[in-house]
Amino acid sequence: MAARLVAVEHAPYLAHALFTVNPVAADGLGTLAVDRGWRLYVDPVTFGGWGPQLGGGVLVHEVGHLVRVHAERADALGADYDHDRWNLATDAALNDDLLEAGIALPGGVLTPTGLGLEDGGIEEVYYAQMATRQQCSNGGTADSTSVDGCGSGAGGPVASWELAADDQTAPGLGHADANLTRRRVAQAAREYAASHSRGTLPAGWQRWAEATLAGPQVPWRKVLASAVRRAIAHAAGCGDYTYKRPGRRRIPRVVTPAMQRPLLTVVVVVDTSGSMGQSELDSAIAEIQGVIRAAGLAPQGVLVLACDAEVGDATRVRRANEVRLVGGGGTDMRVGIAAAEAARPRPDVLVVLTDGYTPWPERRGRAHLVIAIIGDPSAARNTPDWATTVVVPAV
Ligand SMILES: [Zn+2]
Repeated sequence: MAARLVAVEHAPYLAHALFTVNPVAADGLGTLAVDRGWRLYVDPVTFGGWGPQLGGGVLVHEVGHLVRVHAERADALGADYDHDRWNLATDAALNDDLLEAGIALPGGVLTPTGLGLEDGGIEEVYYAQMATRQQCSNGGTADSTSVDGCGSGAGGPVASWELAADDQTAPGLGHADANLTRRRVAQAAREYAASHSRGTLPAGWQRWAEATLAGPQVPWRKVLASAVRRAIAHAAGCGDYTYKRPGRRRIPRVVTPAMQRPLLTVVVVVDTSGSMGQSELDSAIAEIQGVIRAAGLAPQGVLVLACDAEVGDATRVRRANEVRLVGGGGTDMRVGIAAAEAARPRPDVLVVLTDGYTPWPERRGRAHLVIAIIGDPSAARNTPDWATTVVVPAV
């Protein structure tokens, strides 16, 4: 309680979130961590050793992971994102703001400067910059820093000590309630920034609050577009030279391969039982079609299949706006995927738009599979690891 009050004193705009997290005692954890249900795991010994001042600072840090949507933003990086690098990027972005607000933290905390990055940056930018550095210098700062992790609530893997999502001894916070809390914090932060009698709002928090009040902060259209683009490039790379026709370049007694524009087929399977809205569906399909056009593929190379929950089969639609969502009920996207695989011409890239509450095929098919999970990011955990998974948060 004392640490909480110190935290509220330091960052009054976070008060609502600080009183929303559900503390759970975690003996032997050695630190503080959060999960996706806004449970705050506290090692009583470590926490007691810090005292209210430092404890309050760490509390602001952990709650910061939750408020700034670090778990869901990690999902948007794709299924194969680097947990450790994301944890370093988010820790640096949070600590930067804490130090700017004059909040004390235990010694040796991670900062952007410590990672050789500029202060005041965005989590995703730090994440990307650290990747470039790792490639260029083969290791360096990021690798030599140990990562303890701040739990699944910060975008890390689900740790062994975390309670089950539906555990009732310490109930977790639902997705909608979490978003409501975030909006209240964003509103409070904006008011705090406007009142000159109080402190100044750190740059990172200011940017986050404005983005939150302006609209969804995860650029899912970009993420989906880049996943489809990569899948197309990959499929194209598998067969862009052919010896079927001789090349135009003549070398005596040598048949040169001809460069041929790849004939790729992209099939989009839509889960009509999904919990996504019609507008999200329309913009997801528009985004995919934009990528396909940009890749120089013929528009007739795109087939949209609606996977109906009740009939349990897949029907072909001529235009994306013919897909009508029915909502409710379970579905089996394996049916839609099998129908897509059976289509002629055979698909090279398969994009599935679904809420994720479906079984998935056990084996990789011929087509490169891109899965867009619309709505609950935790549904992205069941997708096959050989597919590319992106998360489209529901508004
Ligand atoms: Zn952290």
